[in-house]
Amino acid sequence: MAATTAEAVGADRDRHDGKFWKVPLPPRHIHFVSSADSEELHLLFWALRNATVVAMDAEWKPVYNKSANAGSPRVSILQIACRLTDEVFERQLKADKGEKASNSRVDQERRDRNLASASSPSLSRSPVENGAAGTGSCDSVVLRGGPREQAGNGSSHVRKSKSGEGDSFSYLRGRRIFLERIAYGVERPRPEVIFILDLLAVPASAFGKVLKDVMVDPTVLKLGFGFKQDLINLRSTFPGPDSHCCFDKVDPYLDVGKLHRHLHENSSSFMHRGKKIVVGGDGLASIAEAVLGLPLSKDMQCSNWEQRPLSEQQYDYAAADAYCLIAIFDALQVKASDSWFSPIEPEDDEVAEESQSKVGVAELLCPPGALIVNSHGGSASICQPKRGNAASMVEAALLSSSRNEPGGYKKSGPFPGESKILNIEKLTKRFGEKLIITGRESSSSKRVRRKSRSCRAREHGKGKDLQDEADVQWVGPPPWDRSIGGDGVPKFLCDAMVEGLARQLRCVGIDAASPNSRKCEPRELVDIAEKEGRILLTRDAKLLRRRLVPASLAYRVRRQGKWDQLAEVIEIFKLSISEEQLLTRCTKCNGDFIPKALTGEEAVAQAPWSQVIPACALSNVDEFWQCAVCKHVYWQGYQFTRAYKQFAAVCQTDSSVAQE
Ligand SMILES: [Zn+2]
Repeated sequence: MAATTAEAVGADRDRHDGKFWKVPLPPRHIHFVSSADSEELHLLFWALRNATVVAMDAEWKPVYNKSANAGSPRVSILQIACRLTDEVFERQLKADKGEKASNSRVDQERRDRNLASASSPSLSRSPVENGAAGTGSCDSVVLRGGPREQAGNGSSHVRKSKSGEGDSFSYLRGRRIFLERIAYGVERPRPEVIFILDLLAVPASAFGKVLKDVMVDPTVLKLGFGFKQDLINLRSTFPGPDSHCCFDKVDPYLDVGKLHRHLHENSSSFMHRGKKIVVGGDGLASIAEAVLGLPLSKDMQCSNWEQRPLSEQQYDYAAADAYCLIAIFDALQVKASDSWFSPIEPEDDEVAEESQSKVGVAELLCPPGALIVNSHGGSASICQPKRGNAASMVEAALLSSSRNEPGGYKKSGPFPGESKILNIEKLTKRFGEKLIITGRESSSSKRVRRKSRSCRAREHGKGKDLQDEADVQWVGPPPWDRSIGGDGVPKFLCDAMVEGLARQLRCVGIDAASPNSRKCEPRELVDIAEKEGRILLTRDAKLLRRRLVPASLAYRVRRQGKWDQLAEVIEIFKLSISEEQLLTRCTKCNGDFIPKALTGEEAVAQAPWSQVIPACALSNVDEFWQCAVCKHVYWQGYQFTRAYKQFAAVCQTDSSVAQE
């Protein structure tokens, strides 16, 4: 679900007379994969194995009533747009049209290229090309059952799947289906295919292995827009081993939104008459509008993605959401090539082309001292050097043969990928990142993304101490326990890292204090907790590791997001919360309410100067309640009713957990 919901669809419609960006592919390039034994699934496998760029997006039925312990939503479809290697695609077209390799010069070139590729063992191109090297004619390869079967040792097969027979079968079948369905176009089709994979009908065991190979293939660039959240949801939808962990890691991954943001901030391509072109927002629809000229329709975003069959609009939306990533990426490459790379790598494409024969592409792509460290904390070694270089040489060779088509996406006709291969590699090096999902992420991954690198590294298991600590259960009794002389009233002290949790606890009537200063020293926090018989709630693992505080007096909150954290604390400390307790405490300062209600007049007179009580409240509400400490005034308006319902839902579910 790659877009912000807040985008003003209505405004878009007015601006563009209801026109939205549409997928420029004929319908036979869009496939709905509806079962594990469908032809479309074989076609998907075939396309994935011959893809250079794969764009992905996922959709799920929106969850409106998100209670505290609702997990990630169940993903119902995964859209995959594949850009096939140009060469494979053209060869398939030729084979299809019965054009035997009559042009001996082209054939010779191709053979040379393939021989060159066969001579470098770390090369990772499509197996079809390597297979063709042995025979010199792609058609005969086809007749003999495909290269996958011939490749005994498979040293040059990156995406050779571990299982043997079934796969080559499906590979051949996919290829045949491809020929039957896609290549039979009157016009020269685009080398792209879109799949809408029905995750409610196709089990992960059916596609996991093939998808996994692609997800981690260093030669296939994966495009997405905020895909990490999709990945988290996908992983929780398919937690079992049959998925082959295909949603655990995506590498290399390039976020189209981040690339756009960077280019927009730094590139002169977004300048018009010396002024920066203003982009409406960060959402995919706005980026499409800025880059492709038309916005994406978001009407279907919150529709019911679990209904089958999908409506026509849903189908179009799903295809567009994935394919537009490729289209935007192409357009951004053009913008990027204008000026953006020059400060880092001084040679432009012309120079690169000229010196190709003299210097060697490997040196050219990685000039000494031009090590590019990507800005997302990802690895700079996304393409392993050796493999990257070999692949670059072949790509450069391809590039030089298709070089006489200058210009970008819009000018160069139906094969936008051809002249931009070098840029793909550069962009990947600079902007590529790894997405790794460990299963500890909750549905609010934005918080994860904002964390420091060291923090993430520790959470991903490098800091063993921390993990040990996190796995240790909290041991009581809490200081308020009657068995040790307490008054039975739970009391917490929330540090600045769990401020949201503090407010939630106050809303359900729990005494949850905060330190007066945000920069309170750990030592002071511990002192307050000990003195007042409170349990310190924090996410600061360091504080606990320093053993400043007795184990029974501090708890490290593990979940993220205030609702999840509230549920966690209720569960761990077995808090029983009655409905009468809800919203009976000042959420701002943790103070108690003055027991006697105020009238409207009194409320106006006694409210703090910063609080304005709206006239509608004064005319509709009779009773106002004031915090004894900060004097803030509360009343039972619309917000109260809504919040009351939300908290009541949480407490009902969680008090039953606590009683177990
Ligand atoms: Zn207060």
